[in-house]
Amino acid sequence: MKKYLIRINGMTCTGCEQHIDSALTNIGAKNIETSFRRGESVFELPNDINVKQAEQAIIQAKYIPENVEEISSTRNVVLDHKDGYDLLIIGSGGATFSAAIKSIEYGAKVGMIERGTVGGTCVNNGCVPSKTLLRVGEINHLAKANPFTGIQTSAGEVDLAS
Ligand SMILES: Cc1cc2nc3c(=O)[nH]c(=O)nc-3n(C[C@H](O)[C@H](O)[C@H](O)COP(=O)(O)OP(=O)(O)OC[C@H]3O[C@@H](n4cnc5c(N)ncnc54)[C@H](O)[C@@H]3O)c2cc1C
Repeated sequence: MKKYLIRINGMTCTGCEQHIDSALTNIGAKNIETSFRRGESVFELPNDINVKQAEQAIIQAKYIPENVEEISSTRNVVLDHKDGYDLLIIGSGGATFSAAIKSIEYGAKVGMIERGTVGGTCVNNGCVPSKTLLRVGEINHLAKANPFTGIQTSAGEVDLAS
């Protein structure tokens, strides 16, 4: 048996992992571990099966095989920490979302911990609500200050408390 690590482009979900696993199983691969998050699959091939067949099977499953590396049979490649995380982020504001998105691009499994409302200041009580209030205030003002004689507009007083 020879052991291979192959990078695969195009996987987006666990369903894709299953497609790759069955494509590789069909050509005789064993001990297959595929991770869409990392875009990688590790598997063993009997010596009479060429790794090119594995690449071909992946192409037929509509994914793109990239780097293929033969690795030591004793090398333990951890593709998915199914019960753990690569990165834990405290908070769920704009900064932490950026960190999460970038980390996921590198294949990390990310956990986010929020003590209040998910989204942080910008979404919940900062940028978005304040700009919404500014905009409705502007619309109210425009309706009251309409300069066109042919168009009638009206707007009531603003109830700031509500
Ligand atoms: C009224 C207002 C208007 C604004 N308008 C704009 C604008 O127009 N444009 C702009 O660019 N910026 C604007 N800002 C600034 C912008 O909102 C902040 O710069 C941005 O939200 C900061 O993001 P952050 O991720 O650093 O923190 P936050 O968005 O504040 O997120 C921090 C999160 O961490 C959580 N948290 C903290 N401690 C813990 C803990 N121990 N455990 C778990 N969770 C925790 C909090 O509950 C919170 O959800 C505005 C801010 C305000 C208040």
